[in-house]
Amino acid sequence: MMIVMKEEATADEVRSVVARVEASGARAHVIEGELQSVIGAIGDQEQVADLELEGVPGVDHMVPISRPYKLASLQVTHGTPTTLDIAGAKIGGEHFATIAGPCTVESRDSLLDTARAVKEAGAQMLRGGAYKPRTSPYSFQGLGEEGLELLAEAKELTGLPVVTELMDVRELEPVLDVADVIQLGARNMQNYTLLTEVGRAGRPVLIKRGFSSTIEELLMAAEYVLKEGNSDVILCERGIRTFETGYRFTLDLMAIPVLKELTHLPVVVDPSHAAGRRDLVPSMSMAAAAAGADGIIVEVHPEPESAICDGPQALRAREFAAYLRQVEQVAEIAGKRVAVPA
Ligand code: PEP
Ligand code: MN
Repeated sequence: MMIVMKEEATADEVRSVVARVEASGARAHVIEGELQSVIGAIGDQEQVADLELEGVPGVDHMVPISRPYKLASLQVTHGTPTTLDIAGAKIGGEHFATIAGPCTVESRDSLLDTARAVKEAGAQMLRGGAYKPRTSPYSFQGLGEEGLELLAEAKELTGLPVVTELMDVRELEPVLDVADVIQLGARNMQNYTLLTEVGRAGRPVLIKRGFSSTIEELLMAAEYVLKEGNSDVILCERGIRTFETGYRFTLDLMAIPVLKELTHLPVVVDPSHAAGRRDLVPSMSMAAAAAGADGIIVEVHPEPESAICDGPQALRAREFAAYLRQVEQVAEIAGKRVAVPA
C-alpha cells in the first residue's frame, strides 16, 4: 500500500502515519517527493488493509499495490512515467536520450576523440567503463582510477554527463567522483548488497537486465535501489540468453512495452551487447525506439578494429551522427522529444 500524504502534511503527521504502519507490523518507507511525501507500507496484505488511514491528519489518499515491486510500480505515480534530469540531460516521459561511448576507457586520445564525436553528433551522455566485467580473468579489466580520471577530463571537455560501471562497492568513492549515472552491469543485477549501497549513495543508477533474468527480477533489482530512497533509476534491456547462436544475445524488444505497462521508470536499450555485431546495431536501435524506449546506450569507437574490447559491435565514430539521426527520427515518430544539441 502506498500512502500519499497531502502537500501541506507536516513532518509530525508523516511520523505519526509511519508509527501507525509500524505498529501494525508492516514496514514503512518514506519517500520524500518534491511536492509531497509518500509512505510505502510493506507487509502482508491484511495488515496493510487494516490500517484504516483514510481521514487521518495529513493523509491524502491510499494506493493499493499488489505487485511484489512497489516503488518501481507504475501505480505509485498513478500511471505517469518519470522523467529524470541527469545534469541537464532529460530521459523518460517524452524525452529520448542517447548514451554513447566506448566499451572501455582505453587511452586519453581515443576517449577524447569519441567523446567529441558523440557530443557533436548530439548524444546526451557519454558512456565508458573503467572497471570492466570480463568473462575471462586474463582479459583487460579496465584502467580503474586512471580511466575515471580520463572520464572526468572528457566530461570537462564536452559537458556530457558520464555513465560508468561500478562493479564493487570498494570502488564506490572514486566512481562517485565522476559518475553522473552509476551503471550496474548485467552480471551484477542481482548483487543485492551492491544495489543497496548504490541506493544509499543517492546517485542516478542504470541497471542492466541480467541475461537470464525476468522482467520482474529486473524490477525487483530496481526496488532495492528505490527502497533506499534513491528514486533516479533507469532500466536497461541488453539482450537475454536464448538457444539462438546467430548473434550474441536475443534483444528482448517486447520487454520495452511490457516494462512501460508495469513501471514509471525510464527504459533504455543496449543494442551493442545484445547483437555483438555492428551491422545489427542500427536496425535494433530503431526497433527499440519504435517500441517506445526512452533512450539507447550504444558503443562507439574511433577505430573499432583496434579496440581493446567489444570492437566488433562498436559503431564507427565517423558514422555515428548519421546513425543517430535515423534513430532520433524513429523516436520522434514514436512520440518522443529529442534534445537539440547545445
Ligand atoms: C557494458 O555495458 O560495457 C557491459 C559490460 O554490459 P553488460 O553488463 O550488459 O554485459
Ligand atoms: Mn562492451
